[in-house]
Amino acid sequence: MNITIENIKSATAKLPVAVFCMDGRMRPNNSELRPFIGLAGSGVLWDDEYVALFVQKLKDAKIDTSLITVTWHEFCGACNVFKSKNPNDNRSQNEIAQWGAERLATALGSVKPILKVGWSENCDIAAMGNPDHHSEPAIIIDGTGKLDTEKIDLDNAFLLSHAYAPDGDWMQQECDIALNIAMGEHGPGKEHFTQNPMPVYIIGNDKEQAEHNHEILSHVFENHKTQINPIKLAISAK
Ligand SMILES: [Zn+2]
Repeated sequence: MNITIENIKSATAKLPVAVFCMDGRMRPNNSELRPFIGLAGSGVLWDDEYVALFVQKLKDAKIDTSLITVTWHEFCGACNVFKSKNPNDNRSQNEIAQWGAERLATALGSVKPILKVGWSENCDIAAMGNPDHHSEPAIIIDGTGKLDTEKIDLDNAFLLSHAYAPDGDWMQQECDIALNIAMGEHGPGKEHFTQNPMPVYIIGNDKEQAEHNHEILSHVFENHKTQINPIKLAISAK
């Protein structure tokens, strides 16, 4: 792990070309899908208004949304959250994940095929690690929206691309989901992180943005304050 301002600068040189789940086991298998946007369940938890706000944020960042590749993955934890919020929905976890990816790709006007990531044979991209266990070493809150996590040796971290978050409420929800996975029975757990606090990198284009995002997330962090170590990093000193 080698995080310096210089490294972050060279890891944020290009605009994103894909959407992956924030899950650190779901990562591109080729450089043409980098950098990518990390987003819980590729946006499956959003209503149509949030989807539209996200698409607008990408357009505002001068991203050609028609060239974004959307991915979904098997056994997505965000789809479990979706099912707990929609108990009458009889679709499977994978059906919900695929539906969410299709909705997002349509909203983006994407001309790229939707890719499936996972552990079974018919996946376009093989997921890493154990399907039942998370081992993300860190959480990255990326305010630049351009971070290539491979270039800072943190490809297996949770990536929350908050440059394009629809609002602060979503930022809190998404960060809470990541922390609960890490601290819960499918992650290294609370005990582990009490001994070895989990770094939470809050990366901003400038100090003001990093401060602002830290402030928005502060009450989520408060619930895990002995298990995490928030670290603010800004490309420009402003
Ligand atoms: Zn997922």
